[in-house]
Amino acid sequence: MMASQLVSNVTHARKDVASPATSPLLSFLLHFAKEERNYVDVIKDTKGEVLWELGRKALIPACTPSPDDSSDVVDESEQDKEKFLDIINGPGLKAVPPGTTVTIVGAGMSGLVAGYELKRAKFDVRILEASSRVGGRVVTFRDPLFAPGLHAEGGAMRIPANHFLSHAYINKFDINTLFPFEMKNKFIYLSGFRNGTTLTYDCFNRKLKNCDSELLKLFPNLKASEKGKTCDELFFEAVKPVVKLFNDLYNSARKDEPTKIRIAYQGVTEVYDKYTLRSYLEEVAHWSPDAVRLYDLGNAHVVFENGFIESWKDAFLSSNTSGETAGMQQLQHGMDHVPKAFISPDRKRMSLAENITYGARVTNVIDISPTGDAPPKIKVEYEIGTGDKLSVDSDFVIFAVPYTAQRAITKSRPFTPSLEQAIRDVRYVEVTKVLLQYKKRWWEDVFDSDNQGKDGGMVSDLPIRYTMFPKTEGNKQFRHTKRGAVMAAYTFQQDATILGAMSPERRVRIAAENLNHVFPSADSLQYLEAGASQVFPSDELAGGSAFCYFGPGQKSQYLETMCTPDWAYPQDSGNYRVFFAGEHASYTHGWIQGAIEAALRCVKQAHEAATSRPSK
Ligand SMILES: Cc1cc2nc3c(=O)[nH]c(=O)nc-3n(C[C@H](O)[C@H](O)[C@H](O)COP(=O)(O)OP(=O)(O)OC[C@H]3O[C@@H](n4cnc5c(N)ncnc54)[C@H](O)[C@@H]3O)c2cc1C
Repeated sequence: MMASQLVSNVTHARKDVASPATSPLLSFLLHFAKEERNYVDVIKDTKGEVLWELGRKALIPACTPSPDDSSDVVDESEQDKEKFLDIINGPGLKAVPPGTTVTIVGAGMSGLVAGYELKRAKFDVRILEASSRVGGRVVTFRDPLFAPGLHAEGGAMRIPANHFLSHAYINKFDINTLFPFEMKNKFIYLSGFRNGTTLTYDCFNRKLKNCDSELLKLFPNLKASEKGKTCDELFFEAVKPVVKLFNDLYNSARKDEPTKIRIAYQGVTEVYDKYTLRSYLEEVAHWSPDAVRLYDLGNAHVVFENGFIESWKDAFLSSNTSGETAGMQQLQHGMDHVPKAFISPDRKRMSLAENITYGARVTNVIDISPTGDAPPKIKVEYEIGTGDKLSVDSDFVIFAVPYTAQRAITKSRPFTPSLEQAIRDVRYVEVTKVLLQYKKRWWEDVFDSDNQGKDGGMVSDLPIRYTMFPKTEGNKQFRHTKRGAVMAAYTFQQDATILGAMSPERRVRIAAENLNHVFPSADSLQYLEAGASQVFPSDELAGGSAFCYFGPGQKSQYLETMCTPDWAYPQDSGNYRVFFAGEHASYTHGWIQGAIEAALRCVKQAHEAATSRPSK
C-alpha cells in the first residue's frame, strides 16, 4: 500500500471515531504524539492472522497525528461499542426457545445487566443474591446512617464521560440527573513540610516548578532532570514511549475501527504488560526513588504494585490535568439508583424485582448429566437465612461475583486449568472509605478563603490519604441544609488494611481528627455529627476486596481465558453452559462500565448457546 493510500484510510477512520467518547485515560496524548520508536514487529490475532507488522517505518511519519489531535484516542472497551449499544438500545436479541432457563449468581451491576437483557430475550431468569439488596459494590449510604436528604458513596461514586455503557443505561432508564464531579485536587498536606503546613495544590505545583528548597528537603535526591517539574509533568514524560507506541499502532493499522483499537492495545500490552507501575517508573523511565515517592505523596490513587497498563489507563485519576478532561459526573440522588433501576416498576414487565431471590448464598454448582432425551442441566445450590440448603436447576449459569467470592463456591467438576488458575491468581485491590457527616459544610469557607472554589480533593500522607469534599454547585442534597457528608478517607492497599482493622468508631474518629489536623482553623470537630465506613477488606460478599486490577503479566496471561465460557456439553463441543461476568472479566477494571461490558459479553455468549442448541 502506498503511503498516500494509508493516509486517506486513516483520515477516513478518524471521522468514524470523532466522538465525545474519547478516552480521558489517554488525554496525555495531547502532549506527545510522535518521534521514532521500534518496539513491536508484528501483531497477530488469536488465529495467527497478521493484523499489523513492521515495515511501517516509511509510513509512520505520514500518518502520525498532530500533537494537538487527541480525538482519535479511544478506550479499549470501545472495540465492542457498537455491538453492545445495539443490545441496550435496540429491540433486544431474538427470542430464545420457550423454557430456556438461566441462573445468575449475584445481583451486582453485572448480574443485573445480564439478567435484564436475557429476560428481554425471553430467557427464564433467576438471580440468586446473598445479601438483601441489589448493587453489590455500588452502595450508597443515606438515612438512617446520615441525616435525611444526605448521602455519600461507599463504593462507586463517579462516571467518566467516555463510559458509554454506564451512560447508555442511565439515559435509557432516565435515572435521576448527572452533574459534575470535581476531580481537581485543591490542597495537599505533607507532614514533613514546614512541620505540617497545608498548601493549596496550585502552590505545591509552583513550589515544585520553582525548586523550592523547603519542599525539596522532603525529596533531596531528585535527579537534576526531575527537578522543576510537577507530578503530572514527570508522569507525562515517563509514559511518552507508551503513548507513542499506541499512536503509531493505532494510526497505521489498516483495518476497521474495532481492529485498530485491538491492535494498538495488543501492541502496548505485548511490550509493557510485564511491568508494575513501580517497575516501569524505575526501570523504563529511570525515576529516582525520590521521584517515585513524590508521585505517591503528591497524588490520589497511586498503587505501585498494579500492573503498569492498568495504572496508565487510569492515570487520569491521579492527575489534575487529565482528571479535568475526563468529564467526570455523579448522580444527584446517589449511585444506587443505577442498580435499583433494574428492579423498578418503571421497567414494567422487564423489571427484575421478582426474578431475584435475596438472602440466597450460592455454595455449590453441580453439572447434572442428562438422562434419556432430557437436555443437560446445572444445579445451583444455595443457603438461606435458616441455614437450609435449596437448589435450582437451569440450562445455563452466569457467575457475576468477584473471583475472590467465587473461590468459596464449590462445584462438581473444575473449569479449565487456566481458568481455575485465573480464579486463584488474579489480583485484587483493597479499599477502605470513611464518610463523615458535619452539621456545617465548614470546608466551603476554607476553600473559598484560598480561592479554591468550594469543593474538590485533598491529598495527604496521613492515614486518610485522600479526601473528597463534595461538589456544592448544583448539588441538590445541599439545597435545604448547611450540612454535608464528606468522603474523608479513600485509602488503598496497606492504608486500607490499617483503617479497616480499627473499630468503626475509632475509624471515624481518626478520620475526623486527621481532617481537623489538616485544616486546624476550621475547628471542624465541633461540627461532626455522624460517620460511616465501607471496609472492603472485610466485606465477605465482595470477597474481601474492592476491585480487580491485574498484576504484571496478568492481562496477557488471563484476560482471554477469563472471558471464555466453560462446561461445554458434550465436552469439547463448544456448546457452553457456564459464563463469567463481573467487573474483573472486562477491559475496564474497577468501573461499572467493566461490570456492564462483561455482562453484555455473557449475554451474547449465552444467547448464542441457547439459539444454537440442538432442539430437544
Ligand atoms: C471503592 C470503590 C470505588 C469505586 N468507584 C467507582 C466509580 O467511581 N465509578 C464506577 O463506575 N465504578 C466504581 N467502582 C467499581 C464498581 O463499583 C464495580 O466495578 C461494579 O459495581 C462491580 O459490579 P459486579 O456486578 O461485577 O460485582 P459486585 O457489585 O461485587 O456484585 C456481586 C454480587 O454478588 C453477590 N454475591 C457474592 N457472593 C455471592 C454468593 N456466593 N451467592 C450469591 N450472591 C453472591 C454480592 O452480594 C453482590 O451483590 C468502585 C468500586 C469500589 C469498590
